[in-house]
Amino acid sequence: MEQRQTGQTAAAEESFPEIREAVRILCRAFPGEYWRELDAARAYPTAFVQALTESGFLAALIPDQYGGSGLSLSAAGAILEEIHHSGGNGAACHAQMYTMGTILRHGSAEQKAAYLPAIAKGDLRLQAFGVTEPTSGTDTTRIRTTAVRDGDHYVVNGQKVFISRTEHSDLMVLLVRTTPREAAARRTDGMTVLLVDLREARGNGLTIRPIRTMINHATTELFFDDLRVPVANRIGEEGRGFHYILDGMNAERILIASECIGDARWFIDKSVTYAKEREVFGRPIGQNQGVQFPIARVHVQTQAAALMVQQAAALFEAGQPCGTEANMAKMLASEASWAAADTCLQTHGGYGFAEEYDVERKFRETRLYQVAPISTNLILSHVATHALGLPRSF
Ligand SMILES: Cc1cc2nc3c(=O)[nH]c(=O)nc-3n(C[C@H](O)[C@H](O)[C@H](O)COP(=O)(O)OP(=O)(O)OC[C@H]3O[C@@H](n4cnc5c(N)ncnc54)[C@H](O)[C@@H]3O)c2cc1C
Repeated sequence: MEQRQTGQTAAAEESFPEIREAVRILCRAFPGEYWRELDAARAYPTAFVQALTESGFLAALIPDQYGGSGLSLSAAGAILEEIHHSGGNGAACHAQMYTMGTILRHGSAEQKAAYLPAIAKGDLRLQAFGVTEPTSGTDTTRIRTTAVRDGDHYVVNGQKVFISRTEHSDLMVLLVRTTPREAAARRTDGMTVLLVDLREARGNGLTIRPIRTMINHATTELFFDDLRVPVANRIGEEGRGFHYILDGMNAERILIASECIGDARWFIDKSVTYAKEREVFGRPIGQNQGVQFPIARVHVQTQAAALMVQQAAALFEAGQPCGTEANMAKMLASEASWAAADTCLQTHGGYGFAEEYDVERKFRETRLYQVAPISTNLILSHVATHALGLPRSF
């Protein structure tokens, strides 16, 4: 085990110490070699996800009444942060924690009773979330996947891209257009959320094609060709889907920001350990300020980003509006983790490129968070227009 330098500072008590310790213990069974082998094979971390499921961590946000742990968003963030701080990657299953929020907030009593307890137990996996399309990209209001009513079914046609974990999920929350954009009162109206049973859909109107990416992320392309989805699987009202998806985004951003904080801390720990051990010119490289200062700088950046994550989570938990704070937290945390990744690679010199140090793997993995689930430019656009009142550019 590497020594950890980057928990909370001495001034601040570590939040959720028991949860963090339990996650650290679980993660010890899944060391760097485990992740490295999966990365090389582009294979899914089944054993890790199983262990997390059995421990109940993935049911953290499901209320007690449905068999979950009913924990706060901050506690869920602590779980994901610790996974990433341990050198692992929660992206294989993090959506199991929060995608169920769409059912919890907007589903009917029957849907909640049918799905939430099974998701909490791990009997049902809901970790796929289909929004992005090849032609619309970030402009979600222009999605072209349509669902047309035919009796007690919707018939879905279209295409999605970069939809992660569909091959490792039983259910998928899918955003479709039920009213053309031009016919809707507002461009954000006319979209609907359907809960697709992937076990039935695959081969019956749904084709799943894996996309090999620079990271091991189990992401796929989806083709819908007259896929029939029961109307009973619609979440909430027809036409309100965009608003439902938007509702879940703050939680997602805060949790992803927590993963970034975990990554940043892993990179900093790794840098500090190596900078103390590696001797060149007859002294540890970490004695040189040219090596120390970048590590100190990313530590400062990470601590600041962590405070923003805490603030966003506190607002979320208090039921206050937190869209801007969640966006700012995700931006700062993803930039801190990327800066820490770059510093860690530089600190390791040539060894940073060698797979066995895990630095290059984590370096690739943490880069994602400036693009997905929302890119930095879109966050800056939100802050410019919503927080600062500047004119909209689109
Ligand atoms: C590994 C991976 C996993 C993913 N998993 C999922 C998933 O499970 N479900 C899902 O729905 N999606 C998923 N995505 C998709 C992801 O959310 C999108 O890639 C992301 O939102 C950006 O969309 P895009 O790739 O179409 O980029 P584009 O929208 O084409 O944007 C390209 C670039 O242009 C910039 N840009 C675009 N418009 C503007 C503007 N108006 N002003 C300034 N800059 C602009 C963007 O910031 C970006 O940098 C995943 C992506 C990846 C890579």
